[in-house]
Amino acid sequence: MIQILPDHIANQIAAGEVIQRPASAVKELLENAVDAGASSIDLIIQDAGKSLVQVVDNGKGMSVEDARLCIARHATSKISSIEDLFHIRTMGFRGEALASIAAVAQVELKTKQATNQAGIFIEVEHSAITREEPIGVATGTSLAMKNLFFNIPARRNFLKSNAAEMRHIVEEFTRVALAFPAIQFSLHANNQQLYQLESGSLKQRIVQLLGNNYASKLVGVQEETDYLTIRGFVGKPDSARKTRGDQYFFVNNRFIKSSYLHHAVMNAFQALLPADHFPLYVLFIDLDPQQVDINVHPTKQEIKFEDEKIVYAFVQAAIRHALAQFSITPTLDFELDASIQQLDSIQQPFTAQTRSAIQEGNLYQHFTKKNQAHRIEPDSMQPAKNWKPFQSVAAAYNSNIKEDAIAVTKLDLHPATASDSISVFQLLNSYILFSQASTCTLIDQQAAHERILYEKFIQQRANKKATTQPSLFPSTLSLNAADASLLEELLLDLTAVGFLIQKIETTKFQIQGIPAGFENGKEESILEAVLEEYKHFNTALALPLHEKLCRSLARQQALKLGTVLSEREMKQLITDLFACNQPHMSPFGVPVFRTLQKDEIEQLLANR
Ligand code: ADP
Ligand code: MG
Repeated sequence: MIQILPDHIANQIAAGEVIQRPASAVKELLENAVDAGASSIDLIIQDAGKSLVQVVDNGKGMSVEDARLCIARHATSKISSIEDLFHIRTMGFRGEALASIAAVAQVELKTKQATNQAGIFIEVEHSAITREEPIGVATGTSLAMKNLFFNIPARRNFLKSNAAEMRHIVEEFTRVALAFPAIQFSLHANNQQLYQLESGSLKQRIVQLLGNNYASKLVGVQEETDYLTIRGFVGKPDSARKTRGDQYFFVNNRFIKSSYLHHAVMNAFQALLPADHFPLYVLFIDLDPQQVDINVHPTKQEIKFEDEKIVYAFVQAAIRHALAQFSITPTLDFELDASIQQLDSIQQPFTAQTRSAIQEGNLYQHFTKKNQAHRIEPDSMQPAKNWKPFQSVAAAYNSNIKEDAIAVTKLDLHPATASDSISVFQLLNSYILFSQASTCTLIDQQAAHERILYEKFIQQRANKKATTQPSLFPSTLSLNAADASLLEELLLDLTAVGFLIQKIETTKFQIQGIPAGFENGKEESILEAVLEEYKHFNTALALPLHEKLCRSLARQQALKLGTVLSEREMKQLITDLFACNQPHMSPFGVPVFRTLQKDEIEQLLANR
């Protein structure tokens, strides 16, 4: 039997797409405050947003009628015709956010317009106004979302830990605050002030939000054409980190995620970065709204450009140009593909000032001969000067290997043969081949080492036997607020595997020791890499924290494919591997080795 769903249920379902977690409300409410022309915006959080998300602004406020109407579905003051969609400059326009919030939480709205003496106070529950009265307030709006999902327990249970939800909130706050440095922002969580951002330049805002250590490390990016402009900052290569998180793209001031444009930036940096490092960037691309499809779902951060290749080419060129001006890039010699040169958008004049600089510089020299704006031939790059290759973590492994202690293995290896009579070879600097009796075994050295380390960490944790090697010079790690709350969440488990970390400020931690066997002097980058590994876990995996952590540590510390090993190291690895409880699989589910019997080998060569 077909039934038409009652309105409040339909609303709850629709709301689920817009408001998935407290951070979604943070984004919507902050954007509404920006759209209202506020010059000061305060975000107040209780219980990681589960009990309260409140945004107070000094914007233009709402009339009494608008205040009553704003929680209705499709209530928006920002567009009135489909045409308007193509010129939209406000952050919101769908009239969905407040309706969605009102469907899944209790709402308290206080608002007043400058022309009115009194403001209005409205209380909403189950999408309906339950209380309304005049109130004396300052011009502007305060919207409080209380007890998110109070009426949908299943969804409430689905929310993550407070630390995790808080991390999402800080991320949304950071994105909006970066996009509008002229607006003053503050963030309070559980009555503690996390941020107080004064109105200022973008550079000041970046440093306030992402950390003082970037203060002297920012390179300005600024290019302008008739088609689009790019402005913002990239971090100098030596400030690049192993952990992602400080990469921001905004299109017409809206935060977007684009692996395509990320690639453009990475390409521009190419030879300048140590392996697995990410440079900071905060880049704003502004172009005619008609050139982007913003009619996407509000929670989607992906974007479609009318001409993606052009945007790619300009992002890459602009960054190379910026790096070159600061003498960071080596001189490059490329020929510009003629067909690219003919493109309209490239033909269009740059502003006079940038034009001459660009013609002298190398701005255009980054396109390939293969009709692809985004390809650079790697071998035409010269290595950057003044850049030492980054030392691989394999060094940590080497210091771990002991010469003695060849234990009895579980692979029927006779103890004596493990060390002496088996012959081992390394193939492609990545795989260990050994033959024994009538079999031949091929081992993935990285997967094997991950397995060994993983079991070691798990065991140390269980036995509370982790040994710490105290740092001679404790180093301080400043993180962005999101990473800081992640680290805090992991602190107990990190201690259990041998880290000694002390929180000294909200986002600063002192590393006083690392697990024995880890490479000294690398404390910061080890910890950053662990955080990065950890973040990349599929969050759907319902693993306990310490499980994920041990896997991250193992992945981060394991020797990598491509590392040359001595015979002794290979034998040690084999011995350690087969002493593991589950030698067959890496902690990430990759097969570690494969054994071929004599007849299988014979079959490989067929015909017998
Ligand atoms: P949208 O932002 O897509 O228009 P919302 O549901 O977020 O839809 O908001 C509905 C309407 O409520 C807005 O169009 C605006 O007119 C009004 N509004 C919401 N928040 C504020 C605010 N902080 N100050 C002034 N007006 C607001
Ligand atoms: Mg809105």
